[in-house]
Amino acid sequence: MKIMRLFTMILFLSIVTGCSPALTLDDLVQATVYFPESDENLIPVDTLTREDGLPDLYTHLLEAPVKAQSIKPDLVYLLNLDTIRGMMKYDLSFDLTNKEARAQNINGTYVIPFEWVDTYLNKLPIRNHFSYLMPSKPQIIINDTAIDYAFNQDWKLHPTDNVTYDIKDQTTHHETYYTETDVIDISLEFDRRPPNQLILAIDNGREENSHIIDDMGHLPVPKKSGRYTYTLMAIWDDTTLDYTGKINYTFGLDLRLEEALHLNKTTFEPGDSIGVLIEQPFGLDYRIETPIFKNTIGIFHHQDELVALVPIDSRTTPGTYSLSLYEDSTNRLIETIEYQITEKIFETQQLSVNASTASLRSDENAKKDAEKFKNAKAHSVGEKLWDGPFVQPVEGRISTEYSVIRYVNSGAESSRHTAIDIAAPQGTPIKAAHNGIVTFSSDLIISGNVVVLDHGLGLFTTYVHMHKIYVEDGQEVKKGDIIGEVGTTGYSTGPHLHFAVSKSGVNLNPWKFMAEDPLVFPTWKQIP
Ligand SMILES: [Zn+2]
Repeated sequence: MKIMRLFTMILFLSIVTGCSPALTLDDLVQATVYFPESDENLIPVDTLTREDGLPDLYTHLLEAPVKAQSIKPDLVYLLNLDTIRGMMKYDLSFDLTNKEARAQNINGTYVIPFEWVDTYLNKLPIRNHFSYLMPSKPQIIINDTAIDYAFNQDWKLHPTDNVTYDIKDQTTHHETYYTETDVIDISLEFDRRPPNQLILAIDNGREENSHIIDDMGHLPVPKKSGRYTYTLMAIWDDTTLDYTGKINYTFGLDLRLEEALHLNKTTFEPGDSIGVLIEQPFGLDYRIETPIFKNTIGIFHHQDELVALVPIDSRTTPGTYSLSLYEDSTNRLIETIEYQITEKIFETQQLSVNASTASLRSDENAKKDAEKFKNAKAHSVGEKLWDGPFVQPVEGRISTEYSVIRYVNSGAESSRHTAIDIAAPQGTPIKAAHNGIVTFSSDLIISGNVVVLDHGLGLFTTYVHMHKIYVEDGQEVKKGDIIGEVGTTGYSTGPHLHFAVSKSGVNLNPWKFMAEDPLVFPTWKQIP
């Protein structure tokens, strides 16, 4: 019935060209192919210019026309050939089964090599005829909203036994990320038969999980805040059907659940550190503020969450303080938590050193050491290399405790001892307090042989006055590895290890780190 309508239209549209002198190649302008969707609606599907095959078409249609029998067409298009003498209109018919093609106007029927279909006719019009064999586009619904998605298809159409059409197609736009504060359901609705296999890959920016899904009605919903890219790989591989193919549908989801702020404890001492946990973070756009530490507090990814370690200087005034979490770019206050800093009395110590040892401690030497040491704690890896409590690097008598207030040679000069001193015989092995990377392994005038280990997230341990150093810069060490020997190099009154823990330039109480890992949180213990 459709064919009948077409012929009526062709009779109406065609003009007689037979009486004109023969056209030459130079007379051609362009050719346009239309798909006749209805009598009223002609959809242009392809335009041929000189560059893409017009002369070739001209050869077939005009220079060597062969009068032929018409065929029983599977596909019918209209062809308008623009020439400088006017428009020539043809009816293009294709018999896909027998691979034959014809052009017809009122002058007659001409054979066109079937290859011409493949070569010059874009495959695009094919789909208009076989829409019932084209890929199914599912509806993807997040909560109650049907979302837009990108797709990439590799489709093969077998309308007849000997014909296969490859129909490759893809969206050109970049995928959009749908922002939701809560996702109850992601459902999938195919308007036609679902594929034989549906594989789902979910990428959260750090890892990609892919698996065959059994439930074609619902997709898994993420439980953690984050940016997720969903890719559905649908495979239609039943070769008894008139089509096979593979299509990827991709969409993005930004899940922004409400953040939660936790501290590792509620009561701290001077020299302690505050472990901060941000649950359900989205990205890294956060800022932590607390009055006891004025500098920027580094925030780091740890598993699916964010952590920070706030150092408490040993001279911090006891009292009640608060710590606030902000969204950095907007200054939105997310949550505030209060904590206590209790009083801790530090001992005083009189120290006598002889003149030659004291002379080592000149300003000039301090300047030289500072120059050599300046990069030792300049960079830290953004990964928590330690897990669990630190070990005491050397066993022995504690000759000076952490933060003891020192008076040298009964003078007025007083200073805080920034570490613990562990007295031990020269040559005693020194263990790495935890897993880390060596960032300094050299001798200084005042400190003697020194090793610094970076444990990540800005946390360092320092080993001073060593007799021998066994490690070198950049070396990775494990907790308990021997990194050197106890000595009395530099400004020292006898063999001992001066062992310091520091974060963001603040020397902390090493015993606290040996007692417990400050970045372990009560909420984590609920996870089996
Ligand atoms: Zn010391």
